[in-house]
Amino acid sequence: MNQLTDFFSKLFSTSDWPPRWYCGTWSDFHGWLYIISDLTIWLAYMCIPVILLRFVIVKRGVPLRGVFWLFGAFILLCGLTHLIDAVIFWVPIYRISALIRFLTGVVSIGTVIAMIKYFNDAVGLRTSQEYEYELKYRQKAMQALERSNEELKQFAYVASHDLQSPLKTIEGYLGLLESKYKSELDESGQKIIQTTANSAHRMRDLINDLLEFSQVGLGQDLTNVDLNNVLGEALEEMEQEINENKADITVGKLPQLRASRTDMKRVFQNLISNSIKYSRKGIRPEIHISVREKAFEWVFSVSDNGIGIDELYFEKIFQVFQRLHARNEYPGTGVGLATCKKIVETHNGKIWLNSEPGKGSTFHFTIPKDLKTIHDYE
Ligand code: ADP
Repeated sequence: MNQLTDFFSKLFSTSDWPPRWYCGTWSDFHGWLYIISDLTIWLAYMCIPVILLRFVIVKRGVPLRGVFWLFGAFILLCGLTHLIDAVIFWVPIYRISALIRFLTGVVSIGTVIAMIKYFNDAVGLRTSQEYEYELKYRQKAMQALERSNEELKQFAYVASHDLQSPLKTIEGYLGLLESKYKSELDESGQKIIQTTANSAHRMRDLINDLLEFSQVGLGQDLTNVDLNNVLGEALEEMEQEINENKADITVGKLPQLRASRTDMKRVFQNLISNSIKYSRKGIRPEIHISVREKAFEWVFSVSDNGIGIDELYFEKIFQVFQRLHARNEYPGTGVGLATCKKIVETHNGKIWLNSEPGKGSTFHFTIPKDLKTIHDYE
């Protein structure tokens, strides 16, 4: 203990030793070779931490930052030991030399431990060549995915489009059958025609919705859209439905954003139409459309006072053809919310809902303020 206090109290004292020049016999050449080499090593060692520091500052988000700092400190201290070795030729600061060496030892052990600890992480870091390779691989995978998506979209479009024509023929002939031979058919024959006609109508609804679903996607029509106009247009087109159900619709001020105009209209129409359709019997539908601004996105909400949905079905209702009610209870095909989800997701947003059975539902969806599509990166 005494030695320790003695050591620190005389930390800067130089009286216990002669300068190194006078310790033993040095030739000028030998001494200066020692000094110049130590100073060169010190200079080089000083540059490395500065370069490391600059790298860490310039390259934000550099991985394993802690190891960089430790390694920089280690090199700096190593450099200092060489500087002191040179200084000691004139000023015998042996205590400071010992202290710096001790600190260098501690930091070097810390660096070794950190390097062992992060070895696997460091091995896992990818080189720029590996990144480039991965990027190319992902670009190819993305192109393949886009191609197959496009093919699937085409298939769904062509299938639903082409199915319309035979369906029209069936509907036409059914109508003909009914008008020409109705009087000759008994009650059960007429019922068969009626049921077949109903099925044909349902098939038409399904095909139309499927066609709409297949057409969703970010095409070329991303424009600056004023949602106040879009919603106004949507409500105008739904006027009959709104009036028939005496729906009370209130709308907050909506923003302008970059999106597909037709798609945005479809989302609002689907959500509003559902709010009207799934209203409680005998209760006037009250629907409110609003928006909240967040740092990077807009959060839209369509709320109603309708029948509500059990939390159990919050996921299911966004799947194609998934419905919670029989057709005779509430008509529909189960494609509307799936279409909304597809639209919102192709705009890089999310859709979800809060609801309580018997009280009403609120559907929320987000649209990013700075919408980027895959084409923006080409
Ligand atoms: P559809 O209305 O043709 O059945 P959707 O995909 O639009 O198809 O909706 C799926 C299901 O989600 C509906 O069958 C209904 O049960 C439920 N749903 C959708 N919107 C509402 C709403 N506003 N209130 C209550 N239930 C709803």
